[in-house]
Parts: sequence; C-alpha cells; structure tokens
Amino acid sequence: MQFLKPLEVQLRRLRNTLSPYLYAGDARLCPCCQRSFSKFLPAGTAKRRREDAVCPFCRSRERDRLMILLFEQTETLLNGSPRILHFAPEPSVRAYLIDQSLSVYHTTDLMQKDVSFKSDIQELELNDGSYDGIICAHVLQDVPNEEAALSELYRVLAPGGWAVLSVPVRGEQTIQYSGPEKQRSAWDARPDEHVRQYGTDFSDRLALIGFQVDVLAPKDLLADIAAVERHGLSNETFTNVVFVARKSH
Ligand SMILES: [Zn+2]
Repeated sequence: MQFLKPLEVQLRRLRNTLSPYLYAGDARLCPCCQRSFSKFLPAGTAKRRREDAVCPFCRSRERDRLMILLFEQTETLLNGSPRILHFAPEPSVRAYLIDQSLSVYHTTDLMQKDVSFKSDIQELELNDGSYDGIICAHVLQDVPNEEAALSELYRVLAPGGWAVLSVPVRGEQTIQYSGPEKQRSAWDARPDEHVRQYGTDFSDRLALIGFQVDVLAPKDLLADIAAVERHGLSNETFTNVVFVARKSH
C-alpha cells in the first residue's frame, strides 16, 4: 500500500488547510498554533484510542500542548536567550521554539533525519555545560541505559540549567522490562521498543542523578478545570505530567 502514501500525505495537508473551517469553533484552544476549534481529533487505535487528543491544524498532542503551556507560564525558562538542545523534536514544539529568542537552538536524534546533528543520548559528543536548557519528550522509555542518558543530560547542562522531560507514566512504580516479555502493561499486549514503563517515581530517578525536580500537571498551569478541558488536557487514560529537572548553580 506504499503507493497510497503520497495520496495520504496530500489528504492530510488538505485537511490541515481546511481544519479552521472543518472544525470551526471555540470549545478547544491549541497553545502551540494559537488556533481554536470545535474539537480536537482522536488518536491511537483500538484499545489505545483516545478522544480529544490531536490539534487538527498543527497536530500537537497532549504532551506538546502541556510543554508549550509550561514555557508560557514559566517565562524564566526561555528568558535571556538560552542555548537549547531539543531531542526528537516534535513539529509543533519545534515551530514554537523557532519563534522564540534563543541564542542557540539545536535539534538532535539518533534516527530522525531533519535534525541539527545525530546523537546517542547515552553518549553525547558534547562538551560539559554546552546548553542552558534541554527538551526531551518520550525518548527515555526506549533507552537501554537510563542512568548513562540522565547523567549525560546533567553533564551537558550548564550550572543553573534545566531539562524539561516527559515520559509515558502509568502508576507509581517504574517497571524495567527485560527479555521477550517486554510490553507496556497487562491490558496492552502489543510488544514495542519500550525497555521500561515509567511510574511517577521518575522524579526520584532524576533526583538520584543530582537534579532538583518539579512535576507539573495541567491543573498547575491553567486556571481551572474548564481551561484544562479547553486545551484538550483532561484525558485520564494516562498520567499527563511534565518534569522540570534543574541543575544547581
Ligand atoms: Zn495546534
């Protein structure tokens, strides 16, 4: 069905172009593209399908919108023209950051092609203290040596720097998978590349490396439940939080 791909891409472009008209309304607001809609689109398939997830225009997902809200609400993160390193850049977050006043904005990934440079997060060929801020969402669950990766993030941050991190979180305790049984959870038997299922104890794992950690949920960044719903962040099928890990001065 590979020959259908160009058609699929064309149709998606057309839908994006028409989305302000197809989904005209004010019930939902995307902080990434600053557009409002009657609804967000569903994401995932079968058991993993979730409603109210994807912006019809910029395709932002819940975690992208949460991250942009964090930057909007915590101006100190992007103040002073920081040097930023963004792992596995999401298009909607990248578009937002390009518009900010940053002295350096580098993107990196092991596989992705349209990045500033390729890198292995477990072994970064970068000098100590190269960046003031790091953004890394939904990468660490696939990384075999978590301690090496987190230590590298800590090392390449300048004193006083921060890492904004998100990982898929379910439950309290992180589960490390090994061998062929690795899978997300009992209700989702689909094998995948994840080597661990993170719990809310991710913040403890960051603290062990030396980070000071804040954990922020949508309700911490928005005025009330209505605002959380309007930004498409009330989905309860997973724990939607962002971790702000700071390196001391
Ligand atoms: Zn959007």
